[in-house]
Amino acid sequence: MAILRMKSPATTDTTLARICDAIRTRRRFLITSHQRPDGDSIGSQLAMAFALDALGKDVRLVNADPAPDHYLEFPGVDRIRIARTLDDRHIDAVIVMESGDLARTGVSGLEGFFTINIDHHQGNTSYGALNWLDESAAACGELVFELIRSLGVPLTLDIATHIYLAILTDTGSFHHSNITPRTFDICRQAVEAGVNPAAMARRVFDSNSFGKLKLIGALLDEMDLMDEGRLAVMYLNDEILAATGTTANDTEGLINLPLTAREIQAVVFFKAAADGEIRVSMRSKYDVDVRTVASRHGGGGHKNAAGFSVPGPLDAVRGGIIRELTEAIALGLQSRP
Ligand code: 5GP
Ligand code: MN
Repeated sequence: MAILRMKSPATTDTTLARICDAIRTRRRFLITSHQRPDGDSIGSQLAMAFALDALGKDVRLVNADPAPDHYLEFPGVDRIRIARTLDDRHIDAVIVMESGDLARTGVSGLEGFFTINIDHHQGNTSYGALNWLDESAAACGELVFELIRSLGVPLTLDIATHIYLAILTDTGSFHHSNITPRTFDICRQAVEAGVNPAAMARRVFDSNSFGKLKLIGALLDEMDLMDEGRLAVMYLNDEILAATGTTANDTEGLINLPLTAREIQAVVFFKAAADGEIRVSMRSKYDVDVRTVASRHGGGGHKNAAGFSVPGPLDAVRGGIIRELTEAIALGLQSRP
């Protein structure tokens, strides 16, 4: 097991108390998260927003990119303004969810505000006036849950829905290795507050279009198996999208499919962007650590889910990344449970 940088309970309590004080004594909040937001970003932001509403605060939300389509119907997602520059200065505090540094938000103009930084990734630069960093959390939503409870806000269905969304998605539907009793304890409370786990799983994972099913077929058809079937390599380009009538928005979650094959220990998904950049997403099982590979290339994430961007062309970078992943697999398999 990788060693997690655990905060002692006393440190956590102090940080949490300071964040609660900072929230109680301020009125106008802006909540943001990382660019290309995922379920944990959206869930953490909106759970926090509904909690601040309950405290009578003025709440604004801004993200650099829109939420993936299947999150658009979740409560309050239409409150998130999409902008890459912040022009509003009438803010008492900025709350940033799961972003290692301010640049990761993709929103410029956030500097200079009183900032509360909440994250569960390794390598956060502690850029806030208050920094709550806990790598033992399976989702940022776990930390937001604790904060909301500490603020004394009741767990409404809207808040519980977003906390559950954050955990359901960031654990890869309860597959990743960073799940703890706390994860289930929070989910239990969310279900008690009225969340329907079957409906949540269907809404998040079973809301594909027919085009997306065709895209799955096309991607798997062109997938390469390497390292004696332990590594799956998938490619996305404009031709595949055009042939299946889909957009890049339809690719969310597809990277997890190859891991359903027993032999496959890691997946890398290369997505060519219009500007020539290549987005590299990675997933793995057990102790195969893809975060280390991502951080070598200026990216980040978690042991079982990480990513980064590199300038293309694909042929120039592909071999090196595959070699690094093959090494990560060999290392990780030594300690497989
Ligand atoms: P995904 O493959 O779904 O884009 O990202 C998986 C995980 O890696 C997420 O936790 C995400 O925050 C992290 N991640 C992906 N791309 C980057 C990146 O470019 N920089 C950093 N710091 N983290 C990334
Ligand atoms: Mn997260």
